[in-house]
Amino acid sequence: NTSAPNPKHSRTALPGPKARDMLARDAEVISPSYPRDYPFVMSHGRGTEVWDVDGNRFLDFAAGIAVCATGHAHPQVVAAVKAAADRFLHISSDYWHEEMTGLGERLARLNPMTTLAGEPAMSFLCQSGTEAVEGALKLARYVTRRPRYLGFLGGFHGRTMGSLSFTSSKYTQQLGFAPTMPGVTHVPFPNPYRPLFAGADQGKAVLDYIRMLFERSVPAAEVAAILVEPIQGEGGYLVPPDGFLAGLRTLCDQHGILLIFDEVQSGVGRTGKLFASEHWGVAPDIMTLAKGLGSGLPIGAVVAKKSLMSQWKRGAHGNTYGGNPLACAAANATLDLVAGGYADNAASVGEYFMARLRELARDYPCIGEVRGKGLMIGMELVEGDGENTPARALCDDVVTRAFHNGLLLLSCGSSTVRFMPPLNVGTAEVDEAMELLRASLDQALAGH
Ligand code: PMP
Repeated sequence: NTSAPNPKHSRTALPGPKARDMLARDAEVISPSYPRDYPFVMSHGRGTEVWDVDGNRFLDFAAGIAVCATGHAHPQVVAAVKAAADRFLHISSDYWHEEMTGLGERLARLNPMTTLAGEPAMSFLCQSGTEAVEGALKLARYVTRRPRYLGFLGGFHGRTMGSLSFTSSKYTQQLGFAPTMPGVTHVPFPNPYRPLFAGADQGKAVLDYIRMLFERSVPAAEVAAILVEPIQGEGGYLVPPDGFLAGLRTLCDQHGILLIFDEVQSGVGRTGKLFASEHWGVAPDIMTLAKGLGSGLPIGAVVAKKSLMSQWKRGAHGNTYGGNPLACAAANATLDLVAGGYADNAASVGEYFMARLRELARDYPCIGEVRGKGLMIGMELVEGDGENTPARALCDDVVTRAFHNGLLLLSCGSSTVRFMPPLNVGTAEVDEAMELLRASLDQALAGH
């Protein structure tokens, strides 16, 4: 019986006694706003494996929302952070130090503006994705002196007031916080699986829609930047059709608009290349990074063409913690590992994983589509009604049952299970995850 859970993972009811105790304490003192889906209470982790406080083992295919690029507690990353911590924990971005400058040099060497377009680049360092997006938006406005922006429906860019005004993967993210920053117009993101426009090329249709917008309501000459995820993350792991990003690039060039790629989720090897933009050979003007960059240490970066970032006058933008030595040390070790082979591993294991998921889809009509690049993979679940109606409850159920079977997953979009394991995951771990996934699907389907 292929649907029996792996005995390694069979367990008594979760959460266990220690986890239950922690959950009760936490509920009294920690904000209930965190969108937590199931009660995993972590004790420790190594590589792709994590253990809860009751001693249960799990495979982590969520990786802290695509953050643990090098797996949990990678010895090289831990050693780099410890060595930095032994020297000093903080000095503030008013001063200089080796880890910060070294990270700037790595990013200047590896970023797509430089590798694809031959343009030198500079970085501004911060602590998170949302701060990186704020920095990118401020830079675009500062250098263009234009007031407007375009963003994409289904986009996710963070939850501070500027980035939140673009975030639209769920209406609940903006609910209760209006008015957000003015001047942001959302346009649809091309989705060939759920086409919004007539015709085969949804990418071209969206580009036409933007042109129409420019003619009717949003003067292109007032637009500072278009902010886009090269592969949409929280919105459903949507891979744009070929030609779409190149079309955006052309449109931006025609109107003096800056193109910002938010690679907070798709960057740093996640898609099997260092940056997702490399899949289509399209260089942005500004790129945002966070998540995988520090393997878990909080760090974000705005990487921009030097011709743009060098225009920032002293004091134009800053922070206290930017370039924190521990975070930069983690990022330097991470970039060395990812550029040194983990991105390639993500490409080959991702291909294997996606082939296995597509095989699985042949047995399960509820799997509407498997899509992604590298180890940024989505499996969209649909109702068996012939109309690809999103199967939201089934998706939530599969994710919860996977947890009980020993596999940490998260969802995205309306009904997409997403897989984003550490970039150094092996095929044996993928095989184990596939077994647990199949069992979880069977159990969820039996209840629907
Ligand atoms: N941009 C993208 C593409 C993201 O996926 C996220 C986080 N999911 C963010 C920005 C915000 O990052 P953070 O949570 O670190 O603020």
